[in-house]
Amino acid sequence: MNKKKRIIVLIISILTGISVLTASAFLYKYLHQDQLSLDYEYLNSISPDQLLYYQKKYPGNWKDYIAVLSLLNDPYTDDHSKELSLRDKYIKTIIAQLESNKQFADIDWIGINRTEKNKIIKFRRILEYYTIYNPEEYGFPVEKAPTYDDTYGADREGGQRRHEGTDLFNKKGTNIISVSTGTIEQLGWNRLGGERVGIRGSDGNYYYYAHLDTINSSLSINKQVNKGDLLGTMGNTGDAVTTPDHLHFGIELPNGKWINPFPYLKVWEYYQFKNE
Ligand SMILES: [Zn+2]
Repeated sequence: MNKKKRIIVLIISILTGISVLTASAFLYKYLHQDQLSLDYEYLNSISPDQLLYYQKKYPGNWKDYIAVLSLLNDPYTDDHSKELSLRDKYIKTIIAQLESNKQFADIDWIGINRTEKNKIIKFRRILEYYTIYNPEEYGFPVEKAPTYDDTYGADREGGQRRHEGTDLFNKKGTNIISVSTGTIEQLGWNRLGGERVGIRGSDGNYYYYAHLDTINSSLSINKQVNKGDLLGTMGNTGDAVTTPDHLHFGIELPNGKWINPFPYLKVWEYYQFKNE
């Protein structure tokens, strides 16, 4: 090969290498983001009441109980019909093992097939990896207990879009506080949100607080905030101008998917107000 040919081969090899790396990076990102959505789909499927019950009763190993019980409400399958009562019975024997202080790693999986066992182990890993339900880890966004319902997915603007958050109602001027540590990414006015604050949490999620009456004047873009920091006060700015004062609170995953904040709010609310 002469020098010219060698250079051409070298350039082609480099370009091929770059393409392969770029394609792999995209694929990795795609698969990873898909997994992120699935993981949160699982977290969202947990009943906050059940979660709080086990957190209070078994502070040391509530994740074990929730992971096992999640098999009865498996979000990854639509088939809940087959031998549910038999499966219930097996689940009960596992719960009994946990109640007699058996470690999760030492569980005797009698009656549970390998697929189901692997699902329980996966649920347990997700609960370990994501801290969003850990007691006292996150705060509640409204200083005084508000009224709120699960309205995620409800129609907005005559079906043109869906409600991608939770509305928390209280008096105008009620303090709005940050649920987590993070960095301010969006601040000030937009058409729908009115006066709004968007925070990139240290967990990677985007936390969105909208319709504020006033924004804390000490905030600025890229500023760090801590859990419990004052963001502003409740109002009805933006497209909430015809509705009662409320905070619209949203959680967007790093992959752009808005998840339902309702179950997390229920858990955070309990820990925020439990001593009152
Ligand atoms: Zn809303």
